[in-house]
Amino acid sequence: MSKDGVDPPNGIPVLRPRLPSAEDLLPYLRRIDENRVYANWGPLVTELEVRLSREWGLEAPTTTVAASGTAALVGTILATAGPARHDRPYALMPALTFSATAVAAELCGYRPYLSDVDPEEWMLSAERVAEHPMLDHVGVVVPVGAFGRPVSQEPWLDLRRRTGVPVVIDASASFDRILDAPDRCLGRIPVVISLHATKTFGTGEGGCVVCTDGELLADVVRALNYGFSSRRESEAPSLNGKMSEYSAAVGLASLDRWPETIGALRDVAARYRAAFDGAAVPGRLVVSPEVSACYALLESTRGQASQVEETLRRSGIDYRHWYGDGLHRQPQFAGAPRDDLSTTEDLAPRLIGLPLAPDLADETIARVARALGSG
Ligand SMILES: *Cc1c(COP(=O)(O)O)cnc(C)c1O
Repeated sequence: MSKDGVDPPNGIPVLRPRLPSAEDLLPYLRRIDENRVYANWGPLVTELEVRLSREWGLEAPTTTVAASGTAALVGTILATAGPARHDRPYALMPALTFSATAVAAELCGYRPYLSDVDPEEWMLSAERVAEHPMLDHVGVVVPVGAFGRPVSQEPWLDLRRRTGVPVVIDASASFDRILDAPDRCLGRIPVVISLHATKTFGTGEGGCVVCTDGELLADVVRALNYGFSSRRESEAPSLNGKMSEYSAAVGLASLDRWPETIGALRDVAARYRAAFDGAAVPGRLVVSPEVSACYALLESTRGQASQVEETLRRSGIDYRHWYGDGLHRQPQFAGAPRDDLSTTEDLAPRLIGLPLAPDLADETIARVARALGSG
């Protein structure tokens, strides 16, 4: 399941998600056969949107689904801020995030402007953004819920009110953390969530946008569908970012099993905590509920990260720096204008993603703890 590498022979893969089985999908696929509707907000997509809204405790329509988290980000940036303008060419975002945040902003014509994160929160601070010297040139601010940490609406609503700068929250990895606190995390600022297979709740590829501002949500739907609203005429900047009925089938079957899935992932977090408790590990274990249940991280001690990596490699344990060394270290974004990024520079190499699967064996967790304890 390695995206950018080959799993070591007999090694432990860093992530092994489990989506619904063929049997689980069959009733939904049969409905597609009967409906003969495959796309364009068919009945399964519509049902998924209604059920997701209910999961947040909100009335439909507050959620729309998309082909991927990245497509959802593009559609939401276009609907909220429009494409970049000459006087506001920048999308302000943290350097500590997954590439997709910057990829989506570039697709809307923005230059990513990379800002540093708070050392405790690992996220942008709205107060600091409010005082940012470049704010007059920023067309959209994209705070990111680092490793699924929940982002509160309140400080960003306040920033938007005070400065008029549109905000889109990239909460791509936050599905489970948002469910724990929907009142705090959801509201009139649009929130983008990835439904990628590697996140806690997956449709394979997929995403969704949650927003209690009905007009803005309608604009997002339009931006995800060629800019069409009632007529088949493009009225606004857009893409085709719609989810297909087949992905919605996976989503509905995933939702049927959600309590089981999140239960299993939280159990893995508890078993990781128990195994690391008292073990002389060179760092701090970071698991759910501190981050999303799709991550088990070791925040390694300063200066020890490369030795930890070496130990894991030697032990045949796959690991991942989910955000690389920060966006500014990636060739595509290396030239992006940026602030001093000392916190990102310090944190990114020290945050090491450890193996995770809903059915991760006790024996595997013990092997990881043992390897790190002896490294
Ligand atoms: C996963 C992720 C995305 C991208 O989502 P896709 O569904 O893979 O397109 C964007 N931002 C962050 C922070 C993510 O973790």
